[in-house]
Amino acid sequence: MSVIVGTFHLSPEFFIRTRLHNQCTVNGCDGDCCGEGVAATLYEAARIKAHAHELQPYLVEPFNFDSWALSRAADISTPVLNENKPGEQCWFQRQNRLCALHSLALDKGMPVSSIKPYFCLFFPLTLVDLDINVTEIAVDGKAYDTCLVETEHETYLFRQFETELRRVIGDTNYQELLRRYPD
Ligand code: SF4
Repeated sequence: MSVIVGTFHLSPEFFIRTRLHNQCTVNGCDGDCCGEGVAATLYEAARIKAHAHELQPYLVEPFNFDSWALSRAADISTPVLNENKPGEQCWFQRQNRLCALHSLALDKGMPVSSIKPYFCLFFPLTLVDLDINVTEIAVDGKAYDTCLVETEHETYLFRQFETELRRVIGDTNYQELLRRYPD
């Protein structure tokens, strides 16, 4: 059952004691989470395509934006370079492992959220549909492989994703979780 705080449903996995720790907060992000690209909406693809020309210099290889498969709205994802081969990665991941969309936004002084797909902004959290209009905040399955590592110390996952959760549910709701689940 979800843990409800404010108007938010949180996955039970956040509140089971575990030895998993978020290594990215300590060692920095190595960009492995961008290995397979990410789901995107038609609207996000349109916003990215509007910057197609400016994005090319940031990319490892030029991308033909006209080849981006956008006809099935529920199946859209960011294009993948070297798909199913060594060196597979999101086409928007730069040589330095940073995100080209994020870099372009910073260089142009645009809000990052105006071009980066929502699920990239939300990662390592994700949304799971519980019903037609009810979603639960969960840990993205990919984060278990790329961000979380086993350690000696037991804790709750909601504490490992404090920064991300505070951004989404707000400080008041996060403080409520700390009260309910003291370490
Ligand atoms: S769009 Fe950027 S953040 Fe998202 S998967 Fe691709 S490189 Fe990573």
